[in-house]
Amino acid sequence: MKTRMLTFQEVKKLSEAYSLIFGRNHLQISLAGLEPLLWKDDSVRIYDLIRELANFGFSVDITTNGYLLKKMSVMLARSGLRKCRVSVHSFDRELYRRITGSDYLNEILKEIDHCLDMGIDININRTLLNGFIDDIPKGINFINKRNIKAKFYDLLWVPQISEVWQGFYIHWKCVIDKYVVDLTKEIECIEIMHHRSRLRYHLIGGGAIEVKLFNENMHTSLQHCIDCPQRDFCKETFGEYIYFFPNKHIAFCNLNEKICLDLSMILKGTVEDIAEFLIKSFTIFMGINWKEILGTGRLQLYLNEVCNYKCSFPGDCNEQWCLSYKRFNKHFLFNQK
Ligand code: SF4
Repeated sequence: MKTRMLTFQEVKKLSEAYSLIFGRNHLQISLAGLEPLLWKDDSVRIYDLIRELANFGFSVDITTNGYLLKKMSVMLARSGLRKCRVSVHSFDRELYRRITGSDYLNEILKEIDHCLDMGIDININRTLLNGFIDDIPKGINFINKRNIKAKFYDLLWVPQISEVWQGFYIHWKCVIDKYVVDLTKEIECIEIMHHRSRLRYHLIGGGAIEVKLFNENMHTSLQHCIDCPQRDFCKETFGEYIYFFPNKHIAFCNLNEKICLDLSMILKGTVEDIAEFLIKSFTIFMGINWKEILGTGRLQLYLNEVCNYKCSFPGDCNEQWCLSYKRFNKHFLFNQK
């Protein structure tokens, strides 16, 4: 089956429409989900797309497993990329291999150093799995030596992993209390209106650890959330990210894809048509405050449906936990270089 993807023209058109609505200079675009460094549209590569968006005035970040950084770091450093998040789900080589299916931990850590030397702003992303956090001190040591930040994420509940989720779930607070609090010199609260605020633990050693706080208020004030069957498991806020998927759907949260806009036809129109359609739809979906809520959020682009990793639960349960894998399922390319 052919894998679906967003084309260069589609991304360009949607971004331009977005900038017509919100103004171009403060908008953030995140390229995330599966492996965005694998994306290409004919001869246009990911760094060309980033350059185009950055030149247009967007602040662009990317989330990658880092496997292709060696090949692309020079071009990424020149592209205008604002931030590169590298997912390192364990700093223990054997556990990293068991979780990701790749034995490249040491190479990726070396490449992070190379990227930092070239001036790329690197953050580490880490999903917390209960029973598999003994390597956290190693990770803290790594970020301290480089004065960089890591973000700890709770394991997201999705219906497809509901049977095993509880066994692997650990709240970030347990990890912070065990490994981070004693090493912290200052805790900063970064308030973000309408969305999830962040707690940033500035470490004595120079690095920082960040976590997202759940925003109960958004769950109880928005009718979509009040009516949502997933609400008891959901930790997101509606509209913090606008997700644009390869099937040309836009969704307002990761868990409830039923609330979405199908852009496949309107994307064939002009940028002005798309902007008009979005304004009308946002008003219907978000109410009169839509501009305030979405204007402080991010546009997150899932560029393609391929990945070269296979993030699975370690141990006997070999189930995959990657949300994007669960969403797109079988269109994966493993170990593509
Ligand atoms: S899944 Fe989406 S609609 Fe449902 S509670 Fe969470 S943010 Fe709201």
